[in-house]
Amino acid sequence: MKTLGLLGGMSWESTQTYYRLINQKVKEELGGLHSAKLILYSIDFAEIEVLQRQGDWQATAEILINAATSTEAAGADLLLICTNTMHKVANQIEQAINIPLLHIADATAQALKQDAITSVGLLGTRFTMEQAFYRERLEQQGIEVLIPNDSQREVIHSVIYQELCLGVINPDSKKAYLEIVESLAARGAQGVILGCTEIGLLIQRSDTSVKLYDTTEIHANQAVNIILKE
Ligand code: GLU
Repeated sequence: MKTLGLLGGMSWESTQTYYRLINQKVKEELGGLHSAKLILYSIDFAEIEVLQRQGDWQATAEILINAATSTEAAGADLLLICTNTMHKVANQIEQAINIPLLHIADATAQALKQDAITSVGLLGTRFTMEQAFYRERLEQQGIEVLIPNDSQREVIHSVIYQELCLGVINPDSKKAYLEIVESLAARGAQGVILGCTEIGLLIQRSDTSVKLYDTTEIHANQAVNIILKE
């Protein structure tokens, strides 16, 4: 088994999910007392969140590059950035390290293609939904991306930062999210990407008949496949 490197803490609520899913899959594949070899570099999310709001992505890149190079030096063979939003600076991180990075949007595109999905809804932070870095990566693979309307995006974004990243699970927010999922399906989306690593804490596949693609789960699963099989 190779060693995974995780850039986590963004937020730690979803990093816990990554840690659990990765270990569960290693156990499933190898059995017994097996668990994942991994190095977790957990960042103080408050520092990142302020810089995101200020639009100082260069400063966020510097923090993550420092974390990524430390993780590589500690022995990681493959790097995961455990947040969709911070893939905004994935190219800069990739250039600073000598180990491969498993891009969360590429992992997701692969899962969508396996299911022959050509039109998909995207939920995430405003940065992920509105900026090009994430959507274009999917569009380049021939997948059409539908995003919620402005007021829906506001709901999705504020619930992420004011509730989910703080560990708050609110039934009203769940209802609002599910309505938005339905509206994307009504607009033609064949599935909806949970493009923020905390959304799976709020809504799950059993809540709706719309096909949900949970990026945390997809990213964690593909990473384990790589460390075990490649
Ligand atoms: N974890 C979230 C994501 O996947 C949001 C937190 C962040 O801004 O990094 O985008």
